[in-house]
Amino acid sequence: MNTAYQRIVVVGGGSAGWMAATALASALPASTVELVESEEIGIVGVGEATFPSIRAFHRILGIDEAQFLRATNGTFKLGIEFRDWRTPGEHYLHTFGDLGGLSGPQSLWGQYRRVGDAQLGALGEQCLPSVMARQGRFQLAPSEREQQFNYAYHFDATLYALFLRGIALQRGVRRTEGRIEHVVRRADGGVGQLKLADGRVLEGDLFIDCSGFASLLIGRALEQPFVDYGHWLPVDRAWACPTERSVAALAPTTRATAMEAGWAWRIPLRNRTGHGHVFASRYIDEGRACEQLLRQLDGAPVAEPRLLRFKTGHRARFWSHNVVALGLSSGFLEPLESTSIFLVQSGLGRLIDLLLPGVVPAEAAVAAYNAGMVRQFERVRDFIILHYCLTVRRDSQFWRDMANLELPETLAFKIHAWREAGALHQYDEEGFDATSWLAVHAGMGHWPRRADPSLRDMPQEDALRALRLRRDSIAATVAAMPRHEDYLNSVLAR
Ligand SMILES: Cc1cc2nc3c(=O)[nH]c(=O)nc-3n(C[C@H](O)[C@H](O)[C@H](O)COP(=O)(O)OP(=O)(O)OC[C@H]3O[C@@H](n4cnc5c(N)ncnc54)[C@H](O)[C@@H]3O)c2cc1C
Repeated sequence: MNTAYQRIVVVGGGSAGWMAATALASALPASTVELVESEEIGIVGVGEATFPSIRAFHRILGIDEAQFLRATNGTFKLGIEFRDWRTPGEHYLHTFGDLGGLSGPQSLWGQYRRVGDAQLGALGEQCLPSVMARQGRFQLAPSEREQQFNYAYHFDATLYALFLRGIALQRGVRRTEGRIEHVVRRADGGVGQLKLADGRVLEGDLFIDCSGFASLLIGRALEQPFVDYGHWLPVDRAWACPTERSVAALAPTTRATAMEAGWAWRIPLRNRTGHGHVFASRYIDEGRACEQLLRQLDGAPVAEPRLLRFKTGHRARFWSHNVVALGLSSGFLEPLESTSIFLVQSGLGRLIDLLLPGVVPAEAAVAAYNAGMVRQFERVRDFIILHYCLTVRRDSQFWRDMANLELPETLAFKIHAWREAGALHQYDEEGFDATSWLAVHAGMGHWPRRADPSLRDMPQEDALRALRLRRDSIAATVAAMPRHEDYLNSVLAR
């Protein structure tokens, strides 16, 4: 079998490059896949928290969970704990669980608000993974079919790229070590050859640009314009500083703590804890941002703090001529909801669907790919802005400005639909479902102005009884679960 894109060259060996190479080699056995990377340049090496879609990606590739966790110092992730976002001292969880019915008389949150019984506790007590996260417990169902909640992982990004590299090489990917110095364009504007610093020349039919922030092909060679989201998402720098593991128990959650001009992450791995401070250089200088991070650390640093500079946004086209960009070369949204690796997988899935044997995808298919990726970035962008714009913090210029942002129209409509009608409107290409949106609205204390009259169809006592039952059943289920680290150790021993 032949594909019109017979020779595929992946440029870059970070997470994006090795994910692409592994998936393409597995899905297209009749094509050759070659990956070129430069150890001298290295990889960005951050990106330790993920989104549940990574599990489907691993399943499709036949990756064993225990083997993956062992290789990457991985831990389980139930969601993100947001601290100080609404106002200092408050916190909430966004876990990947369900909150029952979302509309009409069966609406769990609606009945919870209507009943207004203080003894019910927080809304989160109605959500299985939120209760597990609060108590630091974890356990999977005996089979995927019986699994009642979604989850993701934390891992060492450098080890993840190496782990995938091992699998990709076994599946026939050829690895070339070398620094690309020159990109040769074809007469039709596409890429024809890559010239390496040592004089070697690589040729291909399809090039996957995973060159990170360098954006060698889609940005530098093809000059695809960058669509900048900086006016909505002004953070543009991060200090990263891993520490020794703290004595605290291994939390099954990422932590995101709001800071004076951005936020700080805390990501628990088995051997160390990832820390970083994402900030807006318009509001705080790099030195002060670094001091603020160092004050947050809960263990001894194992490396010097490292500064990363970035822009939020994406290339106008992700696929142009015979170049498809994935990962940081295609765009970046701040890592608040751990979505970069998810966006790589999403792009890869769409791409593989279009690489049919013997045909170059039609222009309309490429246009649809680009439109879908743009929309997916926009949806994630809106979800991230939601975390900021609902704040009631006014204690720094950054937070005052975030509270008064002029919102993208798409997000303004969603917020309006929720506030006025209690509707969790979903567009196409959403990365986050209605429950995730509800978790942030609820966590930020942002509720509809009026209750849905249909809620009264259920007698108040019935609603209270149902909520108590659900809460008590979740509490009993979680009480019987092991601590996260104990469960993780049992998986690693398999
Ligand atoms: C501060 C920060 C925090 C993040 N946190 C998260 C997170 O929690 N979750 C998440 O999903 N994502 C996160 N990300 C994003 C995540 O790190 C990336 O999406 C992911 O690692 C993929 O990176 P990449 O492979 O695109 O780029 P890189 O890892 O930078 O890889 C680029 C590759 O291209 C190669 N290359 C570049 N130029 C050349 C050349 N001239 N010749 C040959 N090779 C070349 C490099 O050697 C390297 O192999 C974060 C990013 C940042 C900046």
